Amino acid sequence: MRKENGSINANLTQVRENICRACKKAGRDPGEVTLIAVSKTMPVTDLKEAYDAGSREFGENKVQEIMDKYPQLPSDIRWHMIGHLQRNKVKYIVDKACLIHSVDSLRLAEEISAQAGKKQVEADILIEVNIAQEESKYGICREDAIQLAEEIAKLPHVHVQGLMAIAPFVENPEDNRKYFRQIRQLSVDISEKKIDNINMSVLSMGMTGDYMVAVEEGATMVRVGTGIFGNRNYR
Ligand SMILES: *Cc1c(COP(=O)(O)O)cnc(C)c1O
Repeated sequence: MRKENGSINANLTQVRENICRACKKAGRDPGEVTLIAVSKTMPVTDLKEAYDAGSREFGENKVQEIMDKYPQLPSDIRWHMIGHLQRNKVKYIVDKACLIHSVDSLRLAEEISAQAGKKQVEADILIEVNIAQEESKYGICREDAIQLAEEIAKLPHVHVQGLMAIAPFVENPEDNRKYFRQIRQLSVDISEKKIDNINMSVLSMGMTGDYMVAVEEGATMVRVGTGIFGNRNYR
């Protein structure tokens, strides 16, 4: 399927309007919500189109794809690593990603800290929580999140900024509201522990199918791919 010219621009406008509407409904300031354009599998020309329409935050789920696209696009783009990250690939992106959303083990956080130290950068990360306890998803279970946060807090070059969750795929986004509430509550619980070097200001949750509900429930980052770039073609 070919995309029409200008459709990315129009889609972005639509998504931004929807975020504003969800904010209004929840009594929130739209300035609190960052829209991440999830550009995985999309060609650089599509990212350029989104860039020209004002996007500066892009999300990718593969290290190789960030490495390929990074030098081809303007340097004021903020790259978000949102996919499962293998420890042996951390070194390639630790100085390229502004935020790694998908940290779910101490071993991974340790490697991020070590590589950040080597490159003399500080790495901002989120702890990925498997909120619906789905077998197929990465992420730590809710019960273990606080302990993981406490352990990661001791690492020198890694700074936890909040939580990330991937909600189940559902037909009706309302079905995910309970999960968004749970993750928001978890972030409040962790925040109340007042752990040094742990910040809970970011809640990365909500995708094309459910980002409006996520915003109503407190998301500060939504990750929207299909809703901006159209369907992905995995070949
Ligand atoms: C692909 C992906 C998204 C975007 O999904 P859409 O349904 O296309 O909006 C969001 N988050 C993560 C972690 C993803 O891998």
